Amino acid sequence: MEKGLLKKDALQTLIDGVREKGGRFVAPTVFARQVVYKEVDSADQITHDYIVPRNSIKEFFFPQTEPVLRFRLMKEGVELEDVRVEPERTVLFGVRPCDAVSCGSVRKVFTWDYVDEFYTKREENAVIMTVACTNFDEECFCTTVGVSPEGKDGADILLKETLDGDYLAEAVTDRGVAFMEEFSAVFAEWNNSELKKIATPEPIEGVSIDRIVEFLKNRAHYNSELWAELARKCVGCGACTFTCPTCRCFDMVDEGTYIEGERRKNWDSCQFDSFTLHASGHNPRDTQFKRWRNRFMCKFNFYPVKFATKGCVGCGRCIRVCPVRLDITEVMIEISEAEGNV
Ligand code: SF4
Ligand code: SF4
Repeated sequence: MEKGLLKKDALQTLIDGVREKGGRFVAPTVFARQVVYKEVDSADQITHDYIVPRNSIKEFFFPQTEPVLRFRLMKEGVELEDVRVEPERTVLFGVRPCDAVSCGSVRKVFTWDYVDEFYTKREENAVIMTVACTNFDEECFCTTVGVSPEGKDGADILLKETLDGDYLAEAVTDRGVAFMEEFSAVFAEWNNSELKKIATPEPIEGVSIDRIVEFLKNRAHYNSELWAELARKCVGCGACTFTCPTCRCFDMVDEGTYIEGERRKNWDSCQFDSFTLHASGHNPRDTQFKRWRNRFMCKFNFYPVKFATKGCVGCGRCIRVCPVRLDITEVMIEISEAEGNV
């Protein structure tokens, strides 16, 4: 099945079907007064009135913390136990197109020089049901970075809302087709209902992604005084990196006692001063603006140049969450203009 009608009142049947087969169903829901992607077991828990959830979907493939091995000191030596990832299927409903695009970017990093099965196995066992946007806020800027609010990239099934609040469902990948066939009882024949209008933010005037990339590729700009000016107010809290769908830095820490414990993979942030602190005490990014420069370089140089993919999908989370309102789009405008004036 490649196309069908997903009625809102059929969502409970879909949730039950996924859960009965051992899967988890993730959807936007209100938690602590915020809309977040979270596992749900009831259609009543799903909110359909949201712009972009507070968290991104990366945490369902790349948890904030997880063990990668366990160790125990024995008389004969150290006993090591590998942690095997055997993930349940994850169905992500209501994913915004920008978040779906980010999966392809993060995957490039986790399969670049080494295949990180902790990430890939979860992602490969997921079904992403994207919902096209019918609303946006002033922080959304997907079109500025070449992402469409009704885009199919990264989606297995693209949903578009009808005026009645149901969904036109179109399978995008083989995984999407197989899922719609597996749950064919939930998808009715498409009835040509009228669709809600897609909401498309205007690209931000003055931003040129090409000029930004050129500026960043030019090593002479690495020590430009602009960085200190643009990022002076950053307090290094790391909130932008934790909410960003394409930030994926982590560190490995042994936790436990001298006798036994776990080696854990924990989210980390390039905005923390300890991130690049050497054992010698030297820190190559010894001021906050250098750390912020790194984050911007990652989005508009490392990702597109090294991985040929998007480092920023324009979700706007880093702007919404920043306690000092450091707005990445203002920096994008400044750098675009700076490159244009070189
Ligand atoms: S840099 Fe900001 S706007 Fe871009 S993807 Fe990350 S959180 Fe979203
Ligand atoms: S959220 Fe704002 S203050 Fe915190 S690290 Fe990011 S840019 Fe800096």
